[in-house]
Amino acid sequence: MNETAKTKGQLLQDNLTSKKENIFEKQTEKLDAIFSYAEGYKAFLNAAKTEREAVCELIAMAKKNGFTEWSLGDPVKAGGAYYFNNRDKNLFLFRVGTEDIAKDGVRIMAAHIDSPRLDLKQVPVYEKSGMCFFKTHYYGGIKKYQWTTIPLSLHGVVVLENGDEVTVKIGEDESDPVFYINDLLPHLAQKQSEKPLGTAIPGEKLNLLVGGVPYPDQSVSDRIKLNVLSILNETYGIREDDFVSAEISAVPAFKARDVGFDRAFIGAYGHDDRVCAYPIASAIFETEDRTHTTLVILADKEEVGSDGNTGMNSIILRDVLDSISSSLGADPILVRSNSTCLSADVTAAFDPNFEEDLVFELERKNNALISCGTTMCKYTGSRGKSSTNDASAEFVGTIRRLFRENGVTFQTAELGRIDVGGGGTVAKYISHINIDTVDIGVPVISMHAPYEVISKADLYSTYEAFAAFCKLCRKN
Ligand code: MN
Ligand code: MN
Repeated sequence: MNETAKTKGQLLQDNLTSKKENIFEKQTEKLDAIFSYAEGYKAFLNAAKTEREAVCELIAMAKKNGFTEWSLGDPVKAGGAYYFNNRDKNLFLFRVGTEDIAKDGVRIMAAHIDSPRLDLKQVPVYEKSGMCFFKTHYYGGIKKYQWTTIPLSLHGVVVLENGDEVTVKIGEDESDPVFYINDLLPHLAQKQSEKPLGTAIPGEKLNLLVGGVPYPDQSVSDRIKLNVLSILNETYGIREDDFVSAEISAVPAFKARDVGFDRAFIGAYGHDDRVCAYPIASAIFETEDRTHTTLVILADKEEVGSDGNTGMNSIILRDVLDSISSSLGADPILVRSNSTCLSADVTAAFDPNFEEDLVFELERKNNALISCGTTMCKYTGSRGKSSTNDASAEFVGTIRRLFRENGVTFQTAELGRIDVGGGGTVAKYISHINIDTVDIGVPVISMHAPYEVISKADLYSTYEAFAAFCKLCRKN
């Protein structure tokens, strides 16, 4: 139907009512860009399955883009591009612009680079009934049953008694072995199947199968365990005691793959929140804006509450801003009060398969629809907006205008129905230090599962949103 054939009511409806639009359908001119951007993202996912690996990959990308290493207290100058590595688990990237940052503030883009997984306990190794296992303690909110019977890889570091640090990464190469969590066969699982989903696999059963060949000396006990320790000693030079000062995580060994005949989606481990970390990093790498100061935070520990000195609830962001301000002779109080932040984290995509479970808003108006663009959440929290950064109408208005001016398609949503549950993000820790902050991010299907799904259109839309944000002008 062409415009002239529309009735007065139809035209009025087009003009006055809001609607969400599928980007694959409405922005066909962007299809090549959408699909080619996804290729770089998949490569990043396969290389960065933990926060440590993400920091490592992003530093390599930063160096290629002319960023140089910076530490707290170092001088900065206009035109400079820097990275600050906080303990190998939290990374800052920033460009210093030509505008006075006391008046113009800093454009802050935040995401987290840790994902739910299974961490090894400090004394993990034991043997029972012909099998050797590692005990784990899960990290972040998981549905435990999903982590059984899938190939898992081990990633992390071991600090030896002499201070040497050994890197562990096994299970990713096709020739590597993988690790595994057992589950009961259905033939004998009648009782297990009657249990609620959340209790069928308790945390204590998430033990990794790591070996089965006994050490060839019958005079010792626990010979399978000894053989595993002997292999670990030969490969990494470690002893059982060294697990005490180790951080080793079991993560899904799957690679990121296209999902669907039309390749609209990407399946991968750890979209939450690398699907936001990657576009904000590429936005700061590629921006041609040299007038504004922009800063990217890639935080650790979001999945366990943002605590610790690599999480967003530490004063490290304030220290970094203070240090930059001090070098430029700017009052840090003014720098913070004039700064703005897009806090990027994933949200729940509406899933029609669970429509009857009444977890999503019934009218769908306030749900994130897949492929309808990056999603702005004015507030997060649960049960009555508890514990949320509720962005002001004024700041949301500023960002909305910025997106419209730059052709960024976005939608707005909250995380499911009001009384069902909810979740928080790092936004509140940034607004806590007097910075206007709003949540934005990619809708995810099966969030926190070992293999999550996102739409390539939403990934690209998020990249466009952050590219526009680097250019945001403040009225002062
Ligand atoms: Mn997240
Ligand atoms: Mn999460």
